[in-house]
Amino acid sequence: MSNICEILSVGTELLLGDIVNTDTAFIAGRLAALGFPSYRQTVVGDNDGRLAEAIREGFSRADILILTGGLGPTCDDITKKSVAEYFGVPLVMDEDARADIESYFRETGRVMTENNLLQALVPEGSHVFPNRWGSAPGIAITKGEKTAVLLPGPPSECEPMFAEEVEPWLAKRSGCTLFSLNLHLYDIGESRAESILKPIMETSANPSVAPYACEHEVRIRITARGETEEECRRMCREMAEKVLATEVGPYCYTESVTVWESKNAIVLKMIEALRAKKYTLALAESCTGGMLGSRIADIPGVSDILLGGVVAYDNRVKEQLLGVPREILEQYGAVSEECAAAMAEGARKITGADMAVSITGIAGPGGGTEEKPVGTVCFAVSDHCGTVTATVRFNRKADRSKVRRLSIARAMMMVIRRAMGVL
Ligand code: ATP
Repeated sequence: MSNICEILSVGTELLLGDIVNTDTAFIAGRLAALGFPSYRQTVVGDNDGRLAEAIREGFSRADILILTGGLGPTCDDITKKSVAEYFGVPLVMDEDARADIESYFRETGRVMTENNLLQALVPEGSHVFPNRWGSAPGIAITKGEKTAVLLPGPPSECEPMFAEEVEPWLAKRSGCTLFSLNLHLYDIGESRAESILKPIMETSANPSVAPYACEHEVRIRITARGETEEECRRMCREMAEKVLATEVGPYCYTESVTVWESKNAIVLKMIEALRAKKYTLALAESCTGGMLGSRIADIPGVSDILLGGVVAYDNRVKEQLLGVPREILEQYGAVSEECAAAMAEGARKITGADMAVSITGIAGPGGGTEEKPVGTVCFAVSDHCGTVTATVRFNRKADRSKVRRLSIARAMMMVIRRAMGVL
């Protein structure tokens, strides 16, 4: 059985340009790393006739058709029906999926309607992927040489389900086991990382080594194909050591395995570094307006390290709540390392935290000057050993929200380095 894949995204909102097709980008990247050939990607709206045609066309070329979206309970969610019709099987109730959906609604305290149970209907003979991230289960159905894999549309469900449920299933189908390990690099660009790793990437097909540029970091994904997970883990570890022995090594700040760990790598590393020191943390945020606090609070169980913070957007709050001396504000301005230092020291003082981090900058689009253009952000980290500061000028093309997102990543990296004794 060959393994030629195609991705078929279902959703009128994709056709209208209302949303970007990140599911396809994610799946395509994973298929490439896994060594599954994938030659076409299609987007089709929520229309019975056109979807049926796209399924027939997809299967005229591919053995595995991966469909995203349209698994929900509403009448425009037609993917399952169309796939069942293609395979000539009825939709039947999957009792495990039904129990899962019922408990999902019970646990999240939401009201379940009869409609929601339609999500537990699957084409007869399907393999069901449990949805630990939402409600609609994923589905795989095979007839003869052809397999359809159906995934929910929301990326927060589609991505982890693909990585954690579908990948092992696909690997088993092709008679092997797959395992991926990510190395997270900070302060190095993708092209530099790629040029350093080129000799390794070109000579190693298994494990494969591929860099991915994310907004604030570069990830190196190492994927091994083998007989057992143990063997794959060992192969990935050996390759990781090889990668870390190159010039990219010093830029690696952490490693991850699951999609969740990978998306939260920087905040998880920061929490780990603070826990290792038994440090508590306080925040003083100006231009990020509480984003850093919100990002940290995304992670369950952080109350042992996160004490709290002050959103000091206005200078009066910097002065009155954080105790930033007026002279500093007048002499150096709110966007200065002097102000950042006083903000961090103030946050530490009023909360009693072991460490505090501050962010004050010009996120734009207005407010920039020649001396301090838009994208200029000052940071400070303060602990009992003293206070360190930094100024970063983010790329002038970065928009307001990007400057803010990059700023919280930089602040977390400063906390990591300080807690690890390298700042
Ligand atoms: P639900 O159970 O939430 O209805 P679903 O499987 O029916 O899930 P859709 O209704 O097609 O999925 O899409 C739900 C949402 O998921 C969309 O509004 C969009 O925000 C997001 N989404 C859908 N498809 C994609 C895609 N290909 N890339 C990125 N996001 C997507």
